[in-house]
Amino acid sequence: MAAPTIVLLGPPASGKGTQGRLLADTLKLPYFSTGRQLRRELKARSAIGREAEPYLEVGRYVPDELVLSLLMSWLEKHKGGWVLDGFPRTVPQSEDFDRFLGSRRQNLRAILLEAPADELERRVSDRRECTMCSWTGTRTQARRSGGRCPSCGGELGQRDDDELENFRQRRKEFEELTLPVASYYEQSDRLLRVCGTGRPEEVFSRLQSHLS
Ligand code: AMP
Repeated sequence: MAAPTIVLLGPPASGKGTQGRLLADTLKLPYFSTGRQLRRELKARSAIGREAEPYLEVGRYVPDELVLSLLMSWLEKHKGGWVLDGFPRTVPQSEDFDRFLGSRRQNLRAILLEAPADELERRVSDRRECTMCSWTGTRTQARRSGGRCPSCGGELGQRDDDELENFRQRRKEFEELTLPVASYYEQSDRLLRVCGTGRPEEVFSRLQSHLS
């Protein structure tokens, strides 16, 4: 059987990054987060980063063409199955991706991580991210490691877009544009709904039992 492709859907702070990296390590698949890559492009002031900036600043989704070109250049360098965190986020992105996959679309599983709004708001203010690698953790973990990434030693910080107003706009975008993506995959029997509350290890074992 061809390598599986896993796409992670969920509101902001639902744990897509954490669960995505755990899955990628376990399944030995390459992992890509479009959001993280966009933040890197922004930091580097690249053409893509500058184009994305006005959207990221206000918590709106970037245009489909922009995110597709970012993803396609990464996919070209990583053959086989993938774990994608935060892509697709709109129905046109899902349709384009299915066309790209062709018959391999049967091996795609979409995981929708679900968690209540108050828990997500609590998590978002507590979240810390490495500026160098894909590590994500909590304020307590960051304090314990002296503000340095436990994985690569890079600097840890809070995401600019984790400020409450921006977070609420991203959640709105999720409800309006990404929940229809969940329905799109549900119609073709490729959606798994996973409860995203609890410790990351608990969510991960729930997720694994859904996948097996
Ligand atoms: P994330 O790190 O997944 O929370 O993504 C951060 C931000 O990047 C989102 O709020 C969007 O503005 C943008 N973004 C990431 N992935 C996509 C996508 N597939 N389509 C549109 N915008 C995206």
